Amino acid sequence: MPQILVIAEHACGSLRPATGAAAGFASQVVAAAGGAFDILVLGADVGPVAAAVAHYRAASVLVADSPALAQPLADTYAHLIAAVARRRGATLVVAAATTFSKDILPRAAALLDAGMVSDVIGVQADADGLVYRRVMFAGNVIATVKLTGMVQAATIRSAAFATPELSSVASPIISVPIEPGGLPSLITFISREENAASRPDPTEARVVVSGGRAIKDSGDFERLIGGLADALSGAVGSSRALVDSGITSNTLQIGQTGKIVAPDLYIAVGISGAIQHLAGMKDAKVIVAINKDGDAPIFEVADYGLVADVYTAVPELTAKLKA
Ligand SMILES: Cc1cc2nc3c(=O)[nH]c(=O)nc-3n(C[C@H](O)[C@H](O)[C@H](O)COP(=O)(O)OP(=O)(O)OC[C@H]3O[C@@H](n4cnc5c(N)ncnc54)[C@H](O)[C@@H]3O)c2cc1C
Repeated sequence: MPQILVIAEHACGSLRPATGAAAGFASQVVAAAGGAFDILVLGADVGPVAAAVAHYRAASVLVADSPALAQPLADTYAHLIAAVARRRGATLVVAAATTFSKDILPRAAALLDAGMVSDVIGVQADADGLVYRRVMFAGNVIATVKLTGMVQAATIRSAAFATPELSSVASPIISVPIEPGGLPSLITFISREENAASRPDPTEARVVVSGGRAIKDSGDFERLIGGLADALSGAVGSSRALVDSGITSNTLQIGQTGKIVAPDLYIAVGISGAIQHLAGMKDAKVIVAINKDGDAPIFEVADYGLVADVYTAVPELTAKLKA
């Protein structure tokens, strides 16, 4: 029966919602194949994160809390994940498919000599193990795969799994002893530069408003896309066309080579709906498209479409929402 270790993700002590999806995946595996799951929280001063995940119905919450873990350095974190996985007899190590886990989990899998599957959107159990469904080629192909070997690692798409219903009883919290001198030191943290973003991250927001080539410059982007996003307390995103023309930063790009989002509401403003863009947003619950071309492919995936010029429709919509 699988013994699962779920890796929690947090930013400066606040839990990332994707962790709930990873716990939801683990619950699904336990329901299908038996076993149990633990959640591992790594970092410095992570008591509040541990307290938050303690209601995800895990067998236990393991906490590696040390100033030496203040920065998520891949060599240190992978080493600790592998050590905890060995100690707990974990047969499956899981994290959400995020930038954090893409850096760390393959290293942990290598240390554990584990087979790894990424971008999992479904899981089932058969007579001799777990069968994973994973997306490939910008979502155009869904592969069904099995891993051989005693230990496995998986990253999951957070849009595909729901956070477990919270339990009123907290899981036991167990401290993982850390010896800073015994940690690898191949990577040294020097500094971090962060954008002081006033809007939510598109991968975590309930509402994402994205602009495409219809937007002519960065002032218009802020006024139209930023204005509509603010009226909905949402995040902003953009197509690659705007990133390539220098109008938006690549941190906003949604799509195959950008961020993958699955908000409750995605508003595509002046975006044609190229397959590479759809790969990043087609799992949104409700898609709204505004485009002056009624034949634009975005309308094929949109739940609601408005054929209009964004320069007139968006200010009108924003004003009505504010009113
Ligand atoms: C390997 C690869 C990876 C890629 N990765 C990504 C990715 O991650 N994300 C991504 O977005 N793209 C990606 N692309 C690029 C992608 O193929 C498209 O070129 C891009 O998504 C187009 O952006 P767009 O829809 O903003 O622009 P366009 O395709 O030019 O569409 C602009 C749309 O705006 C409409 N429009 C114009 N003016 C107005 C107006 N005033 N009012 C209303 N509507 C108007 C037009 O009718 C049109 O439909 C990738 C491409 C490749 C080859």
